[in-house]
Amino acid sequence: MTPNSSSAYVPNEELENKTIVRKYYDLLKVLYHRTTPADRKLIRKAFVLATNAHNGVRRKSGEPYIYHPIEVAMICCEEMNLGTTSVVCALLHDVVEDTEYTLEDIREIFGDTVAEIIDGLTKISDLVIDNKNISLQAENYKKIFLSMLKDVRVILIKLADRLHNMRTLDSMPPEKQLKIASETSFFYVPFAHRLGLYSIKSELEDYAMRYTNPTEYYAIADRLKETEEQRETLIQDFVKPIVEELNKEGIQVEVSSRTKSVYSIHQKMIRKNIPFDDIYDIFAVRFVFDSPESEEFEICWRIYKVVCLLYQTNPSRDRNFLMHPKANGYQSLHVTAMSKAGRWVEVQIRSKRMDVIAEKGLAAHYRYKEENEEANVTDTDVSDKLEDWLSKTREILNSKDADALEFLKEVRLNLELKEIYVFTPKGDMKTLPAGSTVLDFAYLLHTNLGDHCIGAKVNYNIVPVDKELRNGDQVEVITSKKQMPKLEWIEVVRTPKARRSIRDFFRNEQKQMNISGEQMLREYFSQLGVEYNEENLQKIMTATLKKSPEEFWNDIVTHKITKDRVQKILSMKNPKEMAEFQKKVSEEIANKSLDQLIEEQLNETPNVFMLDDDYEQIKYVLADCCNPLPGDQVVGFQVADNRIVIHQTSCRHAIEQMSKFGNRIIKTKWRKGQDIAFLSGIRITGFDRKGMIKEIVDVVSSQMDLNIRLLNIESKNNVFTGTMMLYIQSVRALTNLIDKLKAIDQVEKVERI
Ligand code: MN
Repeated sequence: MTPNSSSAYVPNEELENKTIVRKYYDLLKVLYHRTTPADRKLIRKAFVLATNAHNGVRRKSGEPYIYHPIEVAMICCEEMNLGTTSVVCALLHDVVEDTEYTLEDIREIFGDTVAEIIDGLTKISDLVIDNKNISLQAENYKKIFLSMLKDVRVILIKLADRLHNMRTLDSMPPEKQLKIASETSFFYVPFAHRLGLYSIKSELEDYAMRYTNPTEYYAIADRLKETEEQRETLIQDFVKPIVEELNKEGIQVEVSSRTKSVYSIHQKMIRKNIPFDDIYDIFAVRFVFDSPESEEFEICWRIYKVVCLLYQTNPSRDRNFLMHPKANGYQSLHVTAMSKAGRWVEVQIRSKRMDVIAEKGLAAHYRYKEENEEANVTDTDVSDKLEDWLSKTREILNSKDADALEFLKEVRLNLELKEIYVFTPKGDMKTLPAGSTVLDFAYLLHTNLGDHCIGAKVNYNIVPVDKELRNGDQVEVITSKKQMPKLEWIEVVRTPKARRSIRDFFRNEQKQMNISGEQMLREYFSQLGVEYNEENLQKIMTATLKKSPEEFWNDIVTHKITKDRVQKILSMKNPKEMAEFQKKVSEEIANKSLDQLIEEQLNETPNVFMLDDDYEQIKYVLADCCNPLPGDQVVGFQVADNRIVIHQTSCRHAIEQMSKFGNRIIKTKWRKGQDIAFLSGIRITGFDRKGMIKEIVDVVSSQMDLNIRLLNIESKNNVFTGTMMLYIQSVRALTNLIDKLKAIDQVEKVERI
């Protein structure tokens, strides 16, 4: 099939009316067993209202508009297992937006719940994918999310709406097709995935690809068609002995096989850079059995055993989602076996109950408070999980500090759900989003573990807190009482929970700091017999040149502003005295010697190991062959007595060591925003002339405000070479300096040494 293959539609009202009625009865048929007469009356009311409201209106295809809401309602009940309220809302979903009916009309006729859902659906107007104005776009999404999260049914009906629009996208003009297709993959696919609506997700992906990447799409689709027969035979040959063996054991199974979607085959071809023919897991065979819930696991393992006895399997591809369902509720046992034809086949083993979740998602098990509606399976664990996710997402939305962009990132992460499975030392499996680090794992276990985490043993190797975890890792968190959360951890973690915990910590810490600071200052005031009031407080803040209250309270608590000083300030009578005092303070700030600063900073760990003396004494040294600076790409090497030597990654010695002692390499990163100067060398060559040195010193000290440690000038045959050691903050400052020096007349070359 190719796009735009639909031939022109010829309206025929008589036939159309018959079709409308037939579609309506089809819908009722599917719904019948889960509705009461009262429900059906309500559905009829919605159907009649929608049919009248959309009367005379046609879709782009030429068909009567009402086909669309009925199909959407059908998807809701047939493919998502939703009930009366959802079907009513699906029938009415375009009424408020496109016809003269108002939300109040709907509320009057159908009540608050339906009106709220319709309101949510109406607010999700056209999305515009606009990469240029991402922040506006993010605001837009935020609004949409807000209305979607009112009720999970809003999301589900919206997905059904989108699915039907994708199925009928052929009749849209090409530019619209592209827009709708890309917003489908950007926005709706992650939602479908998150809600575990696997078949809807794959269908959306395939449709989107058909329009955004038609060449590749049809190439793969055609190959799938060509190989269909061959696959059929292979599956039958593979399945037959298994079923026979199972029957002997008295286990009845339903066998179905599903081919990987075009989209996922394409993804795999790109990811592994392989041609179509090399993808071995093009299809999966599924064994579904019916049993009481208490026997499910046992039967799964019995089937597993049969497969393993009959075929050679690849244990590294075994997946056990029985004990540990995926976050979207998916439960199944997977084993990959080699068929007699020499192809790997993925076998999925699960009960009917698990299969419903796998196919129709968490939503299928979500127990709505819909009146008179027969709940499907009341799996509280599953509905808790969905509720949990909804409330987490709402929480992100309601957090004050998240700006729209950050919010978008978090919600998308929350939706993407590529997961890894890692293990505690005791072998408990935990699920984390892909890309999670040691810190995420620590925070997942307990906030306390996260707050005091200094690293971990991953598969018995010591790693820093920012180490990214991989599927199957066994992780033992290492903590130290002395460790406290660091601000840069926000960049290290990827789970919202960890990020929130770190933020909370700093919020609380600052709050504590403010409280203690104020207590101390009140104490000083009362000891000095001075009234604690706004005016006096302001006087001290002004005198000490503090920019923020936070800084001020910190200085009080750390005794940088002492009682004596407070006394002195309070005793000052006139502005002149104040001005002099301020001058003194600013000099103090400026004069703090760089050596002192460096020493202070070096006593802290300047990189990401965060391993402190509670665990192992690890000290680092900056290699003097390349003098790395903050901002440089660096690498660390473990040397004797647990010291780590930091080199620039481009350093000759480092490269040599890396090739020889690969196992001693330690990933090293500079702590962000650190205010610390490092000793660095520069060599300047040029033609000697009068005033040259003065100009150089001028650039360094006056213009760049850098502190020269050592300056050595040699002049020979009119050519001078200057070697200079100076304290510098970052690579950026150094590059800047080099540029300025190069600009000096008759300077030929400036290089870092
Ligand atoms: Mn619609």
